[in-house]
Amino acid sequence: MTPEEFRQAGYAVVDWIADYWATLPQRPVTSQDPPGAVAAELPSGPPTQGEPVEAILTDLGKLVAPGLTHWQHPGFFGYFPANTSGPSVLGDLVSAGLGVQGMLWATGPACTELETVMLDWLAEALDLPARFRSTGRGGGVIQDSASSATLVATLVALHRAAGGRWREVGVDRRYRVYTSTEAHSSIEKAARIAGLGTDGVRLIEVDPATRAMSPTALRAAIEADRAAGVVPALVVATVGTTSTTAVDPLPQIGPVCAEYGVFLHVDAAYAGAAAVCPELRFGHAGLEYADSYCFDPHKWLLTGFDCDAFWVADAGELVEALTVLPEYLRNAATESGAVVDYRDWQVPLGRRFRALKLWFVLRWYGIEGLREHIRRGVALAARFADRVRADDRFELVAPHPYALVCFRLRGPDGPNEELLARVNATGRVFLTHTRVAGRHTLRLAVGSPQSTETHVDEAWAIISEAAADAIPA
Ligand code: PLP
Repeated sequence: MTPEEFRQAGYAVVDWIADYWATLPQRPVTSQDPPGAVAAELPSGPPTQGEPVEAILTDLGKLVAPGLTHWQHPGFFGYFPANTSGPSVLGDLVSAGLGVQGMLWATGPACTELETVMLDWLAEALDLPARFRSTGRGGGVIQDSASSATLVATLVALHRAAGGRWREVGVDRRYRVYTSTEAHSSIEKAARIAGLGTDGVRLIEVDPATRAMSPTALRAAIEADRAAGVVPALVVATVGTTSTTAVDPLPQIGPVCAEYGVFLHVDAAYAGAAAVCPELRFGHAGLEYADSYCFDPHKWLLTGFDCDAFWVADAGELVEALTVLPEYLRNAATESGAVVDYRDWQVPLGRRFRALKLWFVLRWYGIEGLREHIRRGVALAARFADRVRADDRFELVAPHPYALVCFRLRGPDGPNEELLARVNATGRVFLTHTRVAGRHTLRLAVGSPQSTETHVDEAWAIISEAAADAIPA
């Protein structure tokens, strides 16, 4: 493809995406086809001769789009949002066009330096503690996901717990990770990958009303483990848990970690984005105790997957844990010690130029534009919660500090399962579920920039009507 051919094909692809976004409200939110339907329509092998982009785009519309769950649909209220946006797509397009591999400063100086500055900009936007800024001992890096951030935090925590000898000795003792019963599964996975075994994670009980980690139970668990010869290595606290957006109390958890010298990682994968709004920074109280922190701009900050922002308070400790420098990567800039080589801040070696999409997003929207997006989501969720509260058939299951509402029909699980199935079968909206205190609970997470009061009201109308059919007579 010549640059001129690329220009023409690129226009057609951008047109296709713009049309896709514009027609989303007319599509069912989820695929209506059975498993295997997409694969069955595809040829069994690749074409022998090349084809024009028009042919590919035609099949994209005919074969692929109908088989998608449309995450950018205004009626998508499942899981947590995975926003994208025009500026994010354009930044990603430039990144793909540049094809830069940013594993070392030397392999793309601007790739590294823009990333450092973007993470400092984000730290300022969220008003994160000064210890995470690159101007001191800390700094930020883009990981592919919050799961990877937790894995990296786990490895650094083990390095610290082993007295800086983890690189040489590996897992030489019984180390333990602490997190709440409500924490994300990526914490257990990270511990498993790190070689801690099945009893490597201890789940700490939560307050039944708030679903937040109990600092008293955390302290008791750490003390019991120490007495039994187990080394407490890491506490992962969550700001905005996956099930209900509970906020673990950092002002109480932080001092426990400090007292016992345990590494504290804060996982704010979803809710961190809310901190662009000063009035939604309550979850960050006590963050100055944290050794590392992450949130996903790819969830709620209009930045397409993948983009997790991860900060550490001591970049030197992180690099010491992860660095490996083979001969073929040696270069004068690295040897000078004057540059950041992000390969040492993550598990893989190679890395894309993801800072570009953040740069595009931050400049296009500005902090005020991002605040408007977050505030709209929070207000829409509150509007929906009001509807639930006003209907005696329903109950709100947990507080809704951000843009997720957890609710259920009063009574047994069966009608709630039935309700969710009926609602999603309409194709107009898509919700997911969780279990809260053992009870089947529906989750409505607002986040698509296309969702408006009309869509939330329509969701409520569909739910309310379906409830009449789901409740046994
Ligand atoms: N942590 C929390 C609290 C989450 O809610 C999620 C996903 O929803 C994750 C971690 C995992 O995020 P990622 O897909 O970026 O690994």
